Amino acid sequence: MGGTSRVYDVVVLGAGPAGENLAERTRAAGLTSVIVENELLGGECSFWACEPSKALLRPVVARADARRVPGLRRAVQGPLDVPAVFAYRDKMSAYWQDGDQVEWLNSVSVDLVRGHGRLDGPRKVVVHTADGDTVRLTARHVVGVCTGTITAFPDLPGLGQARPWTNRDATAARHVPDRLIVVGGGVVAVEMATAWQALGSQVTMLVRGHKGLLNRMEPFAGEMVADSLRAAGVDLRFGTSVTDVAREDGAESPVRVTLADGDSLVSDEVLFATGRAPHTSDIGLETVGLTPGDWLTVDDSYRVTDIAGGWLYAVGDVNHRALMTHQGKYQARIAGAVIGERAKGETLDDRKWGAHASTADSHAVPQVVFSEPEVTCVGLTTQEAERTGRRVDVVDYDIGRLAGAAQYADGYSGKARVLIDADRGTVVGVTFVGPGTQELLYSATVVITSEMPVDRLWHAVPAFPTISEVWLRILETYRDRAARGGDAT
Ligand SMILES: Cc1cc2nc3c(=O)[nH]c(=O)nc-3n(C[C@H](O)[C@H](O)[C@H](O)COP(=O)(O)OP(=O)(O)OC[C@H]3O[C@@H](n4cnc5c(N)ncnc54)[C@H](O)[C@@H]3O)c2cc1C
Repeated sequence: MGGTSRVYDVVVLGAGPAGENLAERTRAAGLTSVIVENELLGGECSFWACEPSKALLRPVVARADARRVPGLRRAVQGPLDVPAVFAYRDKMSAYWQDGDQVEWLNSVSVDLVRGHGRLDGPRKVVVHTADGDTVRLTARHVVGVCTGTITAFPDLPGLGQARPWTNRDATAARHVPDRLIVVGGGVVAVEMATAWQALGSQVTMLVRGHKGLLNRMEPFAGEMVADSLRAAGVDLRFGTSVTDVAREDGAESPVRVTLADGDSLVSDEVLFATGRAPHTSDIGLETVGLTPGDWLTVDDSYRVTDIAGGWLYAVGDVNHRALMTHQGKYQARIAGAVIGERAKGETLDDRKWGAHASTADSHAVPQVVFSEPEVTCVGLTTQEAERTGRRVDVVDYDIGRLAGAAQYADGYSGKARVLIDADRGTVVGVTFVGPGTQELLYSATVVITSEMPVDRLWHAVPAFPTISEVWLRILETYRDRAARGGDAT
């Protein structure tokens, strides 16, 4: 058996945001940690997801905001400076170099092995490096799988030959296609349709169902975003499903997309934003009795439930709990503390909101859709409350009525919905749609995680004239309705 062998307390597979944080937190707990990465440290988020997509969207949203400010409107009527947008996107993606992150890893004393890692039985990982070497890693305590996700393509004949765009092309492309079809109606589809339409493509969105865009959120969010996309010129089609995708002939040729109703569309590129699949098909799951290609189901300490001995953890997208960077990092902080305590034989504080229980995953997952208008939400939606039988008061407010909103933009359009637990009098869900609402998200998250009684919220005074006065208006609406004897749903 050639190659080198090393032993660590913790072996982390995958150096995206979740893996990096898990390695750092276990190291901080006094354990030795190594991380294995076969592309770039920083993962999908830094190079082909959050960072480049937000850099593409920032000028789109800033221009839309500026166009609503009297005195500024005329100065921002022109098209975007596409080379400058791409240049900033490149900078925000660190020019697809991970030197800074390697430096950070060194600074926190975590070792790095570059190469493709696979499990090789309990507590063992074998890494095949790019130069043909083999490194065998053994974990004294834990292997943490943090391999993230890849694009989930529908099962369509010939799709591969048609070279569809994934999130990687949509965030890193260096040219603007004249025509772009976006398949999907979720967050990535909405954000990328927003960006590319503004950059100059004629975008057509093909959405399978009739439930609207962003259909896991409050329905008004998707409706407001759909109206705005249509106003920007996007051709938005619901109830369409793609049955075939083919490049006509040659590399430069357009792509033909056939729909279930027999109609077909021709485009320069087609982006599939149809969900994510676990990046687990080639990581040796079969050597520990799991099925390659599956999501890894975990308990609230991020231990994989189907593995005896408690040595395998899964953190970040790969556990399918909440596919967002900040949530993966939260999970890594909790899992890192858990692994440290278990290694010392200490008792865990695994009560709800305790240091070793992943409470936010199920109670308060914050999310921003960086669309125009932006969508900001945390906690339950009305539909989730109904589904789980939770009695809530649903309090709506038109954000455009606020003095702060009128100061922000002439003709501001926005909507707030807050769900208040009817039995406990605490906020359990918040959705804000409207320009400038993303920075209200942390306040909403604090209100939910602190389980602050609404009575106390009255003493949190929002400044005049800001959009945060929406909190006051929500409380007033709730109070006045209660005074009239209004019922919870
Ligand atoms: C277009 C787009 C925009 C997004 N925007 C946002 C946003 O604004 N905010 C937000 O919070 N989230 C956003 N997300 C989601 C976010 O990108 C993910 O939640 C996040 O990247 C997950 O982190 P992770 O560490 O679990 O996995 P990843 O970031 O996918 O990292 C996994 C790492 O593991 C490595 N790896 C995999 N298999 C192996 C192996 N066998 N051996 C060695 N290394 C391996 C990969 O190379 C990769 O570096 C976006 C996603 C997309 C697609």
